[in-house]
Amino acid sequence: MSLYVILIGVQGAGKGLQARLIEEHYGIPQVSTGDLFRAMRTRSDALALKVQDIMVSGRLVDDDTTNAIVEDRLAQDDAGNGVILDGYPRNQVQAQFLESHLAAKGAKVDAALLLELDLYTAFKRAFGRVSAANGESYNYYYNSDGVDFRWVNYDDHLFPPRLEASLAAGDIPLKRRPDDASADAIIKRIDTFLGTTQPLISYFENKGIMRKVNADQSIEAVWAEIRSLLDAR
Ligand code: AMP
Repeated sequence: MSLYVILIGVQGAGKGLQARLIEEHYGIPQVSTGDLFRAMRTRSDALALKVQDIMVSGRLVDDDTTNAIVEDRLAQDDAGNGVILDGYPRNQVQAQFLESHLAAKGAKVDAALLLELDLYTAFKRAFGRVSAANGESYNYYYNSDGVDFRWVNYDDHLFPPRLEASLAAGDIPLKRRPDDASADAIIKRIDTFLGTTQPLISYFENKGIMRKVNADQSIEAVWAEIRSLLDAR
């Protein structure tokens, strides 16, 4: 039986992390459009440069480009039994594209999970987060044990200064996503979420597949809620 799950939530709600847990448990791959776009960073063709520019500004990539990249990914062998979509669809046009794409292969969206998080916490989770090469994540505001954080001024005095971090043990540098480094870009992404992604909630509610999860809990507690919702389908 196939399983197509959509994760909806403001940035910082923990979609990526929960998607990885669903992936391991249910054996379907995580498809993150944000990750697919970030992977274009190493390319220098016109499309990749356009996408990088859009991402840094916090705006959304156009629907045609986004739908095409998802269609490609869903055609790969490992996606035959379903996927967890993280960060897609972001608006109704994308949702309708996905539904008709799945309908054409006799499948459907089984569940849309909304990870609910207040926007103040969402801002801190995104603006303060840094991660290690192994995916381990830390945060300047509430998970900073064992991490040295430094605010470093840019030469041209851009505001806010750059946040640098490293693991105290071993002085291992930690990375911050470039699109998390600008407070303005994060605010734009939250605004975009409110303006275009939030309406998707009633869209999926009307289809009877929307389930809400409190994302302001420990990773384990959020995961337990998700698992019981998916098992109860
Ligand atoms: P994310 O990692 O999901 O926060 O995505 C990072 C950035 O990639 C977003 O701010 C957008 O610029 C772009 N992006 C990711 N998913 C989509 C999507 N479904 N539609 C349009 N743009 C997207």
